[in-house]
Amino acid sequence: MLRPPNDEAPVIDSPLLIVPEPATSRIYNSHNKATDTTDVELELLESLLKDANIEGYELLSPTDKFPDTFPLKRIAPAYCPLCDREYDYKEPHNSENAYVSRNKKSYSFYCHRANQNKGPGTRNPLLKLVIEESILDRENNLPIPDKLERTRISDPDDHFVWGDLLRMCMSKKKFTRNEIYSAIQATIACVEKRKMTWIVKLKNPDGLYFDMGRELELAKHTVNIIEHGGEEVKLIFLINRAVTENLIHYDDIDFLPHPPNVIPPKTDFFNLFLGFLAKPAKEINPVLWILSSGIWKM
Ligand SMILES: [Zn+2]
Repeated sequence: MLRPPNDEAPVIDSPLLIVPEPATSRIYNSHNKATDTTDVELELLESLLKDANIEGYELLSPTDKFPDTFPLKRIAPAYCPLCDREYDYKEPHNSENAYVSRNKKSYSFYCHRANQNKGPGTRNPLLKLVIEESILDRENNLPIPDKLERTRISDPDDHFVWGDLLRMCMSKKKFTRNEIYSAIQATIACVEKRKMTWIVKLKNPDGLYFDMGRELELAKHTVNIIEHGGEEVKLIFLINRAVTENLIHYDDIDFLPHPPNVIPPKTDFFNLFLGFLAKPAKEINPVLWILSSGIWKM
């Protein structure tokens, strides 16, 4: 196993430099952002309805009883493309409400008037709300989420690690872009010189450490993103965008130990220092450590 130099850094006899393991780790919790998530989904649905020329409704959040149904409350008379398609009805609807149903990876629009007019024994007619752009085009056209104020990846008290990001992917739950891009910024960095070096934050029973190397070998992880209608987006695509948008990009690495109560200034260099561990020390040179690690292929 690879260890960062700080893991075995000489321990200076000062209480300032001893970082106790925090009693509780910061655990990623998507429920903290439930409101955000709903807002993001409502925003997506509004744009999908607009693209489908469905107008005159107020879009409401699902109720606890019907968590996958977004009621549409009529607020202005408007033409209904679904009733037009099904019944050649071109007059505006004046009072009819409608709803959007959330399927696993898509949304469908239903109109109560169309439901009432359907033939016996047939299904309710629906209009699929389709995202026209390809996911990659759409992702590239969406604004990049904010760069985190303080680099979480260098924070020795932030125990959210690379494996937690991968578990977010494997959970197959839906996340907002903001949630995924923050998790990326918290766990991976890229140092780009003539060649790229990837740094990921890991955890073992002894604490946090960085693993670094030229290649970023990922299984085919995908993330279900709410802004893309819950469709899968390749994690590697989002990581690469985080690099090119300067969210996780660094010019070089350095190793600048600092006391735990000091927040180091943000620079273009990635600081490999992850807090002092109160452990017996062996002399180690960070540069030698990097050069001697097998994955640093020059
Ligand atoms: Zn209708």
